[in-house]
Amino acid sequence: MVDRRRFLLTLGALATTNALGQYNARPRFSAAPFTLGVASGYPQPTGFVLWTRLAPVPAAPNGGMPAEVVPLRWEVARDEAMKNIVAHGTAYATPEWAHSVHVEVNGLQPARPHWYRFIAGDAVSPIGRTHTAPAATGRPPRLRFAFVSCQHYEHGYFTAYRHLLADEPELILHLGDYIYEGSWGRDPVRSHGAGEAVTLGDYRRRYALYRTDPDLQAAHAACPWLVTWDDHEVQNDYADDRSEHLDAPEWFLARRAAAYKAWYEHMPVPRFMLPFGPHARIYTRSSFASLVNFFVLDDRQFRSHHACPRPGRSGSNSVDPTQCAELGDPRRTMLGARQEQWLEAALNGSRARWNIVAQQTRMAQMDEQPGPGRVAWNDSWDGYPAARRRLLESLAAKSNPVVIGGDIHAFNVNQLKLDFDDPASPVIGAEFVGTSVTAQGWPQERVDALRADNPHVLLADSRYRGYVRVEVTPKELRADLRALEHVASREAKCTTLASFVVEDGKPGPRNSGPGS
Ligand code: FE
Ligand code: CA
Repeated sequence: MVDRRRFLLTLGALATTNALGQYNARPRFSAAPFTLGVASGYPQPTGFVLWTRLAPVPAAPNGGMPAEVVPLRWEVARDEAMKNIVAHGTAYATPEWAHSVHVEVNGLQPARPHWYRFIAGDAVSPIGRTHTAPAATGRPPRLRFAFVSCQHYEHGYFTAYRHLLADEPELILHLGDYIYEGSWGRDPVRSHGAGEAVTLGDYRRRYALYRTDPDLQAAHAACPWLVTWDDHEVQNDYADDRSEHLDAPEWFLARRAAAYKAWYEHMPVPRFMLPFGPHARIYTRSSFASLVNFFVLDDRQFRSHHACPRPGRSGSNSVDPTQCAELGDPRRTMLGARQEQWLEAALNGSRARWNIVAQQTRMAQMDEQPGPGRVAWNDSWDGYPAARRRLLESLAAKSNPVVIGGDIHAFNVNQLKLDFDDPASPVIGAEFVGTSVTAQGWPQERVDALRADNPHVLLADSRYRGYVRVEVTPKELRADLRALEHVASREAKCTTLASFVVEDGKPGPRNSGPGS
């Protein structure tokens, strides 16, 4: 076992030796410093989080900033021209946090758009647009949001965001694999320009590279986001303190700390998510009045190690449940005891019409063995069947449970059941898994071969990259699976592959036809 306490004390000592640097009230920049744009997130009825980072040279280890503390003025207005300023203040960009700032704005009017910008010295940021959530007592007629996952920079252009923005969502959810730590796949269209990210400097440069993508940057500037992470923000298939290569846990946790820190430095997240060494609490609830509660989960940081991995390594494996006794152990956890208790209490306290669980992997069972017998992929919820059963039993008693996910680089529309092996087990909820923004998926033939073994899977399509567009009203939730013709250019067309509806009070998705 790692002596976590001693490890954290060592990290703390390292942090204090890293001096904040000089204070510079009148910074002069070597180049325009707002190269990474602006972002907002976590809308509340009276405010939201604003983010930016000063990085005149995004590819430089320190973003091209001197070791100085720089004050930034921030302004929030009710109009696009920034004339009617309703909130303003000063934030401090420090070298310790890569000159990123996170501002929590309060005191605003609910349910309306706001515009914002930052000013540092003579430099003025682009103007971002964001939105406050409806008041808790409000009765919003609808919420339009989109969700995405798995954006490998080398696999293609982030064109999905261009089409997603044309739909004018009020909210974007990113369900993980915002960056990829390494290179894989075939026919890259662009390059990370670096090897696998391991150190804090590596992860910072990786986020900066991704954020210079114009479509991604525009999506952050257009509306607020909610985010969770999956494995590739740190390392493929990690589970808690265990890397897929069985690296020494104290080393892997130091790497995880660097990755979490860089994640925080680049995401529009509230300050309570600030990592402490290799630990960060990023799971939370986000409310849209009586209409929707989102429960955004972290299923990487606290999960039990993979059951029955291949010899000499950890990470994902396809396992036969009858040959892997460990798999069914009720002590196995996907969320960790504390998050599980939090989620149970948060779900019990929810009065919203729609309860949407936003998490990173596929929740429904997927038998990967065509014909007799079943094979489970142990990195998804199939690796944690007892934990899944606990969560689904809790969800079954709630108003309109819907799970959204990513990770598999394919669209999946699934019926959620307490017992996926029993055709008579009732449908308790709907699951929509979005395809990747760019990351490559399985051949469709491999997906099709599993259809007969998984009758609760209503749609499985790995051919397209894209996103999912959702409109929620008190009567129904509608999900449009948006498919790009390709990701090899920024101009690719996007069409609706299929649309599904969940009606209020009728659990499970219903195909409302292929779209236009
Ligand atoms: Fe992925
Ligand atoms: Ca089978």
